[in-house]
Amino acid sequence: MTFSELGLSPKVLTSVEAVGYADPTPIQQQAIPRVLERRDVLGIAQTGTGKTASFVLPMLTMLERGRARARMPRTLILEPTRELAAQVEENFKRYGANHKLTVALLIGGVSFDDQLKKLDRGVDVLIATPGRLLDLFERGNLLLSGVEILVIDEADRMLDMGFIPDIERICKLLPFTRQTLFFSATMPPEIQRLADAFLSNPVRVEVAKPATAADTVSQYLVRAGREPADKRAVLRALIKKADDLTNAIVFCNRKRDVAILQRSLARHGFSAGALHGDMDQRSRMATLDDFRNNKITILVASDVAARGLDIPAVSHIYNFDVPTHPEDYVHRIGRTGRAGRKGTSITIATPVDKKYVSAIEKLTGQPIETLEVEASEEMAASRYGKRTRKSAKSAEAEEPAANGTSEKPKKSSKRRSGDDQPRRGRQRSEVEDKPVPFGLSDHVPQFLLKSVRPAS
Ligand code: AMP
Repeated sequence: MTFSELGLSPKVLTSVEAVGYADPTPIQQQAIPRVLERRDVLGIAQTGTGKTASFVLPMLTMLERGRARARMPRTLILEPTRELAAQVEENFKRYGANHKLTVALLIGGVSFDDQLKKLDRGVDVLIATPGRLLDLFERGNLLLSGVEILVIDEADRMLDMGFIPDIERICKLLPFTRQTLFFSATMPPEIQRLADAFLSNPVRVEVAKPATAADTVSQYLVRAGREPADKRAVLRALIKKADDLTNAIVFCNRKRDVAILQRSLARHGFSAGALHGDMDQRSRMATLDDFRNNKITILVASDVAARGLDIPAVSHIYNFDVPTHPEDYVHRIGRTGRAGRKGTSITIATPVDKKYVSAIEKLTGQPIETLEVEASEEMAASRYGKRTRKSAKSAEAEEPAANGTSEKPKKSSKRRSGDDQPRRGRQRSEVEDKPVPFGLSDHVPQFLLKSVRPAS
């Protein structure tokens, strides 16, 4: 099937051709004609399947007729995160290059002056996160009675993030006659209930089972001790061993750990950036751009922050923590092996993660192969740091055991020998090898590590 058979307008077909897509993806083939028939659609599809274009392209076609009125958006797209909202806006820009449509973005963390001006003039497409939209509506800056099409994207993620009550409120503010397009990667009962309540006789379009992990992803499991420092050592050994690594995303379960791990990797000379929910919008976008443009090789991220990232070719996924929800595992590894490319995913598992690993294997229906990794050199490096942190008193007694010698321990020769680490990374590694004051984990401000001469 070709794009020209789907009923899209000539203008939209020209943009699709310019973007260079040969054929529509399965979700596009199934959803686009139905959206153009003005049917409600329940799409069960993950990111990476081309689902964004499956609603953006027919919306562009339908928006060619009619005009926007002040403060009354014609269509509304709800996204769970700022990044996803920004990506959908990108899609409108890309595919709507031949259209003169106004698109506004209502997301937290950015100034609203421009968006409010746009709203006042009238917008064709409003892309928003639920909280921000309600905020603006309550302040009277927005009228929702002109919305002809509502898109609820990534509904299961909305559920995870506690947005369902907001969505229910928004749906009740919209005209009853609107068309609703609803997308979710999974259909837990809560999502099914929402779909039943707000979709009218929908066409169900399903492209891949939620548990399907891309066939092109080689999945491995590596065992490690529970200590974060041991896991970090294993991760470093894995990254160093991966000859075919072009770029990687490392997932942590907690946003606090994202920052810790990124700093640790940077200190060890890796080119690493962090993406977590506590960062402001500007720095998140900047980090993402750096990752897309290969200025950063490794992106350490939390699930929420990384959801739906449109990064075409990621060679490796590392799960620094085993995800506690097996669906998250499928989403994470879905960041690699896209569009038929090969990818590798490696999950670092500790003994307490056994039940989570079993849940993943049950969901995906396949056991994850265990990989042996030699991380002793990396471990030795971190162990020294740990011992010195324990207490200043016991440090001397423990050092000989750590090095098998009574001499003062030397800095890791591996890391210092003419390797190709950036200069900055090397300097930071040296700092890390110094004794670390107790209670500061391994993130000690540099000024505390400077030797101080007491005043005479
Ligand atoms: P999505 O599932 O919307 O996040 O899209 C995933 C990726 O697929 C994006 O990088 C899109 O640019 C790309 N894409 C969308 N439609 C097509 C298509 N028909 N052919 C090839 N790539 C596509």
